[in-house]
Amino acid sequence: MSLLSIVLPSYNEEQNIANTAKVLTGLMEENGIDYELVFVSDGSKDNTYSEICKLEVENKKIKGAEFSRNFGKEAAIFAGLELATGDAVIVMDCDLQHPPEVILEMVSKWKNGAEVVEGIKNSRGKENIFHKAFANVFYGIMSSLIKIDMKSSSDFKLLDRKVVNALLEMPEKETFFRALSFWVGFKKDTVIYDVQERQFGSSKWSFTSLVRYAISNVTGFTTLPLKIVSWIGLIFVILSVGLAIQTLVRFCMGNAVEGFTTVILLLLMIGGLIMVSLGIIGNYIARIYEEVKGRPRYIISNVTDNMPEQIKGAWKKND
Ligand code: UDP
Ligand code: MG
Repeated sequence: MSLLSIVLPSYNEEQNIANTAKVLTGLMEENGIDYELVFVSDGSKDNTYSEICKLEVENKKIKGAEFSRNFGKEAAIFAGLELATGDAVIVMDCDLQHPPEVILEMVSKWKNGAEVVEGIKNSRGKENIFHKAFANVFYGIMSSLIKIDMKSSSDFKLLDRKVVNALLEMPEKETFFRALSFWVGFKKDTVIYDVQERQFGSSKWSFTSLVRYAISNVTGFTTLPLKIVSWIGLIFVILSVGLAIQTLVRFCMGNAVEGFTTVILLLLMIGGLIMVSLGIIGNYIARIYEEVKGRPRYIISNVTDNMPEQIKGAWKKND
């Protein structure tokens, strides 16, 4: 019988762990699915990891790892993929905003031959309007850049073992799971779901972390902003030739352009554009710098006892 791994990135989710585990184990057992739950505590500052350890004592199918600090959801997802041993892996939030029943639909599509089953949001659930507007603009841009509809996509997916291995082979440190799973290809299918409301705790995303996420993902997936910079430069060169000719002709005819106003405006405009362009180039350089350093995506400080020996050996002192 095939094994299904469910990967759950969790950051400060002490109130959710036990309930989520109960709901998921109940669902798996009712439907006779062989499963494992892989919780990855992303450097939580509360008792998330000890909650996971408590569950592991009762149910050996629940495993977990703890990061040495908060590395972000992307890193937690990739750690989960690395620790999962299933023939298919589901990634879902551990706050049950991704409805668990949908897993059954995903599994049946996987059994019918799909290798990636994408969870598509029917509605985005309750979000503030800034968040919603920002997400719309960001995913609109991303969709047109990578030519894939990203607007309603989410991190809730089922991946076949082949796909997981392909993802784990990617060398980049800063990943964008949602888009990478499109990028790798494979046979796709989708399931549609409604985002549920969070029962306990609150969303871990702040506006600045969303902006950082957006910049990192754009620089990770496209060089279009760099090309736009060159095009703007070219347009300005062409305009400046026209303006230079006009100014010189007027000067020769004895009615040169007057005053500083034009000069100041041009300086401000061109200065601003140069700064923005440098900023865009800077973002790409920063990304190259981050990747070149070659540091690991995450550092695990602890794993539960039921992890395979070679994994435990890597992170646990012999005691
Ligand atoms: N999460 C994480 N690391 C972080 C932030 C969030 O592992 O730095 C996890 C979090 O515990 C949850 C999932 O990512 O399981 C989604 O986070 P959240 O519910 O805060 O986001 P939202 O649902 O509001 O998009
Ligand atoms: Mg959530």
